[in-house]
Amino acid sequence: MLNSKIVKEIASELSFDLCGIAPIARFNDAPDGFRPTDVYKDCKSVIVFAKKVPHGPLYASSFVPYSHLGNIIIQEVDNLTLKFTRKLEDLGVRAVPIPSDDPYEYWESDNLYGRAIISLRHAGKLAGLGVLGKNTLLFNDHVGNMIQLGAILVNIDLAGDPIATYESCPDGCEICLKSCPTEALDGKTVMQRLCRPHSIYTHEKGYVLKKCNTCRKVCPNAFGIK
Ligand code: SF4
Ligand code: SF4
Repeated sequence: MLNSKIVKEIASELSFDLCGIAPIARFNDAPDGFRPTDVYKDCKSVIVFAKKVPHGPLYASSFVPYSHLGNIIIQEVDNLTLKFTRKLEDLGVRAVPIPSDDPYEYWESDNLYGRAIISLRHAGKLAGLGVLGKNTLLFNDHVGNMIQLGAILVNIDLAGDPIATYESCPDGCEICLKSCPTEALDGKTVMQRLCRPHSIYTHEKGYVLKKCNTCRKVCPNAFGIK
């Protein structure tokens, strides 16, 4: 019988750096239409996992390394999620993989506001992987905010991990809010209408580059609690 311990062993074999489990009841306060049961009605547990993202591209003056690495890591996590899904299916579990990034359907063009089918940052929090900082990123005490998340919805009950209780932001810290060039952060949300035009850039040759990572980089806990 599959249990949480076996799930963690599979995640570790697949080289994920973090893995946690959130029972479905923890998503009761999620927005209507964006709960795991809105994606898969028989979902009883959400397995959330993450790969560490190398830090080096944060220090490059060109945004090409950061953009390129980001695209590769998204693909890597999606590919590992597929392998994870197959392993769960081989063990007789119904497993629904969630994209690590795109695609999603909800889009408000006036506000440039998109919403994933499930918020992986919030799922990660509910699975004990970390807490949300004022920069809106999920932050883990050991590895910081340089992580790429993935998740799988399953139709079996699994023991949940404790929700993290450490503080993400030192008292009075507002470094990310003050450093954002477009004042897109208010400490709870990111105003995508302000962030997207500054942080995502389509080159005339068609490449989509991410050209701002300031709120991630300036955080004193970007790589874990020192
Ligand atoms: S990515 Fe840049 S523009 Fe967007 S919220 Fe972060 S600092 Fe602000
Ligand atoms: S820069 Fe400061 S306020 Fe912003 S997320 Fe990091 S610790 Fe929190």
